[in-house]
Amino acid sequence: MSSLQNKHAVIFGVASEQSIAWGIAQQLAAQGARLSLGYQQRFKSRVLQLVRGGQVPVAYYGRCDVTSDAELSDFFAELKAPVDVLVHSVAYANPSTFGKPFTEVNQEEFNEALGASAYSLVSLMRAAAPHMAPGGSVIALSYLGGQRIVSNYKLMGVAKAALEAVIRQLASDVGPQGIRVNAISAGPVKTLAASQIAGFDAMLKTYEQVAPLRRSISPTDVGNLAAFLAADGSRNITGQVLFVDAGYNTLAMAALAG
Ligand code: NAD
Repeated sequence: MSSLQNKHAVIFGVASEQSIAWGIAQQLAAQGARLSLGYQQRFKSRVLQLVRGGQVPVAYYGRCDVTSDAELSDFFAELKAPVDVLVHSVAYANPSTFGKPFTEVNQEEFNEALGASAYSLVSLMRAAAPHMAPGGSVIALSYLGGQRIVSNYKLMGVAKAALEAVIRQLASDVGPQGIRVNAISAGPVKTLAASQIAGFDAMLKTYEQVAPLRRSISPTDVGNLAAFLAADGSRNITGQVLFVDAGYNTLAMAALAG
């Protein structure tokens, strides 16, 4: 029997075929999970195209902005089965913040980025709580820029630091109900969100040159770890940030030429 047979996974963050969330959807479905997708209205046509493509069977899909309590509540009210797996693959910062000095980031931009990228996990879990099955697993997406300085990541790095702290706090709060909360910290993947970051292609090339495994990663790699975190085999892992980055996070100094 596949490891996720009889599990219902609800995934937020599909915007295109390149989305990490789509890679996760594919791997969870391959392990037998039944899927529901929440999408942001501006990506509706792309998401419908993917769903209708039939590559991955989707039981339910609906509009849901994770910063809107009303949309969250409407979305969860439509679900017909308890939620075993909840995936938060969502982030947003005003693109102008990636390129300017951090002291130029204004409070509105700061609040917007932390609201959409970190507090949204709190709202999502509050809305999902009455629908969560015992033994549920919550998975969010982070990046090394939340722990170390990555040039051009700036405000999003602060949002990821907050997200990782939120994960530990939520894991502590819902652990007594048997629910686990973890983050996957992924290496760079070329997606719509990543295309906002100047120099992203050079960053990918650097990974391939210096990461211990000398390669970059794919959404499928993230999906494989998500499938493990979704399954009962990871039942005693919670509050963690697990890296899928070809080992890049272990480097302090890359091998130097010459
Ligand atoms: P993507 O552009 O495919 O996905 C980002 C998603 O966030 C989109 O589906 C968008 O609709 C959603 N989103 C943003 N604001 C939202 C809101 N208010 N309500 C609902 N959805 C909202 O890009 P991606 O790279 O697949 O990003 C997914 C996650 O992976 C993000 O958390 C990102 O920070 C993280 N991540 C990405 C990389 C990378 O290199 N691409 C690396 C590590 C972590």
